[in-house]
Amino acid sequence: MSGRRFTQLITAVLYNCHFAGFFNGKIWKGKTKGVCVPGLNCYSCPGAAAACPLGSLQGALSKSAYKIPLYMLGTLLLFGILFGRVICGFLCPFGLIQELLHRIPFPKIGKSRATRAFSYLKYVILLVFVILIPVIKLVPGFCKYICPAGTLEAGIPLILLDRGLRSRIGWLFSWKVFVLALCILLCLLFYRGFCRFLCPLGAIYSLFNPVAFFGIRVDREKCTGCNACIRICPMDTGKAGDHECIHCGACRSVCPEGAIAYRGLPGTSGSHRVKAAGDRSDG
Ligand code: SF4
Ligand code: SF4
Repeated sequence: MSGRRFTQLITAVLYNCHFAGFFNGKIWKGKTKGVCVPGLNCYSCPGAAAACPLGSLQGALSKSAYKIPLYMLGTLLLFGILFGRVICGFLCPFGLIQELLHRIPFPKIGKSRATRAFSYLKYVILLVFVILIPVIKLVPGFCKYICPAGTLEAGIPLILLDRGLRSRIGWLFSWKVFVLALCILLCLLFYRGFCRFLCPLGAIYSLFNPVAFFGIRVDREKCTGCNACIRICPMDTGKAGDHECIHCGACRSVCPEGAIAYRGLPGTSGSHRVKAAGDRSDG
């Protein structure tokens, strides 16, 4: 098992370490629910020990009567500046689920100009469902109408564990199951289909990728621009380390110049001047 896969698994267990919830169907509401984990993990998952940053942001926006939710913005800023989309690649249980789904034998669609264009859809979803709908309609738009992680980790388990809830299933739950099914199909066809095209949390963290303390960086003095890194990259990156990079590290082994390293991890970046590929001026 790779170090990244191990980290993803440990993260999923730590985020959801209220194990009793998986048996009694009760959502943990203790003090730790006042803090957010960095990755997408539904607050209402019976095992969740802390809150989801995306759900908390929508909750704060929908309840704040046009006040700026400074606590949530500060939390996202801290996570973003420290890790950027390292969170997507290492610290997101739903990212792990998507990668496992993609391993199931099924027709696959590789990346292309079209997938790169669709990767910008997640910014529209961020604007409409995470910001505008909560502020204008006072409801958490993404959690309520889209989030497949919430349906998989919370909606379905709670319905299975709580008979009382089953009698109250309505059109909204049916709609969410339909969206989840579409997202599963997306992930069977495309590597991390939800992450690449739809996830607004990835969209937020992508803004920090160029400046985040941890993450993939390219030594521009070594790089010859051969693009071997981009050919092997499963995401819609234009350059290693750009806003679409989830810092999985797959490109490090194919770079013929040894130009790709992790910044922020001792012993992986060497003594050369390193700079984000997205910041390079020499293509
Ligand atoms: S650029 Fe490299 S580290 Fe980033 S997602 Fe692609 S393969 Fe992974
Ligand atoms: S980082 Fe390495 S693999 Fe990528 S373009 Fe530069 S030399 Fe080629």
